[in-house]
Amino acid sequence: MKHRIVVLGAGYAGAHAAGRLARRLHPDDTEITLVNADPDFVERVRMHQLATGQDLRRRALSDVFAGTYVAVRPAQVTAVDVDRKTVELIDQHGAEEIAYDTLVYALGSTAADHGVPGVIEHAYHVAGKQAALRLRERLRDVAAGTTVLVVGGGLTGIEAATEIAENRPDLDVAIAARRGVGDWLSDKARRHLRRVFDRLGITVHEHTDIARVDDTGVVTGAAGQIPAQVTVWTAGFTTHPIAAATTLEVAETGQIVVDATMRSVSHPDVYAVGDAGIAKGVGGKPLRMSCASGIPMAWQAADAIAARLTGRKIPEIRIRYYAQCISLGRRDGIIQFVTPDDQFTSSVVTGRPAARIKEFVCAGAAWSIAHPTVMLPSRRRHVIAAIEAETLSVTP
Ligand SMILES: Cc1cc2nc3c(=O)[nH]c(=O)nc-3n(C[C@H](O)[C@H](O)[C@H](O)COP(=O)(O)OP(=O)(O)OC[C@H]3O[C@@H](n4cnc5c(N)ncnc54)[C@H](O)[C@@H]3O)c2cc1C
Repeated sequence: MKHRIVVLGAGYAGAHAAGRLARRLHPDDTEITLVNADPDFVERVRMHQLATGQDLRRRALSDVFAGTYVAVRPAQVTAVDVDRKTVELIDQHGAEEIAYDTLVYALGSTAADHGVPGVIEHAYHVAGKQAALRLRERLRDVAAGTTVLVVGGGLTGIEAATEIAENRPDLDVAIAARRGVGDWLSDKARRHLRRVFDRLGITVHEHTDIARVDDTGVVTGAAGQIPAQVTVWTAGFTTHPIAAATTLEVAETGQIVVDATMRSVSHPDVYAVGDAGIAKGVGGKPLRMSCASGIPMAWQAADAIAARLTGRKIPEIRIRYYAQCISLGRRDGIIQFVTPDDQFTSSVVTGRPAARIKEFVCAGAAWSIAHPTVMLPSRRRHVIAAIEAETLSVTP
């Protein structure tokens, strides 16, 4: 019987993991199934572009993995049983249970409402495709002069606010944040951000706690109100509840706790990569939810799985950061260079060159998904049955 590897989620992390596993392990004795809710690869870093009416290139996962032995299974994952080693799926034909020997959990994340009343009912977000399409429809229908409030002063909030303001100069766009907007950036980057907000006419509300969202805007902690006809909630990401409903060890964030090889610390046949897993980076700091973490996490997991099953030394991939790339609409941006543990340095690129670099990085990430096995030397090795049995029975 073949060793069954099931990868849940074909985002940046899951798709990379599946492609790399197919390049490392022999199809004679390994089976790889990649489950994803959407039949296409969703370029999540461009959801603010989708929301503002831009059309994204379609990449069907079945085309992406054609010619590899990865079987793409479009379906919704509804539950995982890590003790029985099964996954429950549902698609248009109904519910099904599939079994695995090794699971790679890469279901990503969604918008975090932080328990603020009214967010789910009244706010829009851009953390996924359906949500971005909903906002796109709303923005298409609103008249000139409509007030749009983006809540969240992090990367996603900044990108969403500037994209909306650039795309719809007739709207009245504001951004609100609990702390400072872009306050993790260097002074130079923040000064540039301010200039761009001024140029695009974006009103900034800082140190503003949002207590409630309703259909007239938001109520702030100081019992004030910011009126808005459209509220876009970008105050961070949270994981889907599936992992936390299992016996896997998860952190407070709901992310699966993994070791340096991205293997669950509680269940050795489960690996978690991307936003769904929490691993330590340089200096022991948890890696941040990002493509910049998710892609190398996927490489590490795939290499560790292949090495364990084939009796080889596990390679170590050093996951470190280089830069944070922020788009400010299509014609401006900030490239903030960072230390390996993600602290800003004084090196910054801004303006059109930064926009070009950001575009290059996003396009490069999507290209590498669309060509899962290109530029990787093929070393398809056979699973060693005795090692497989030992690997599967290991307790942490
Ligand atoms: C607007 C925006 C801009 C961003 N910009 C950047 C950036 O510039 N740089 C950066 O590093 N990061 C950025 N991020 C964050 C980045 O997109 C995420 O960290 C990254 O996508 C995580 O990769 P992942 O593979 O873990 O999850 P995802 O890319 O979210 O992939 C998860 C996959 O799992 C599927 N899935 C989820 N639940 C189920 C289910 N129940 N059943 C079946 N399939 C399911 C989803 O459809 C998806 O295909 C941005 C995010 C947003 C929203």
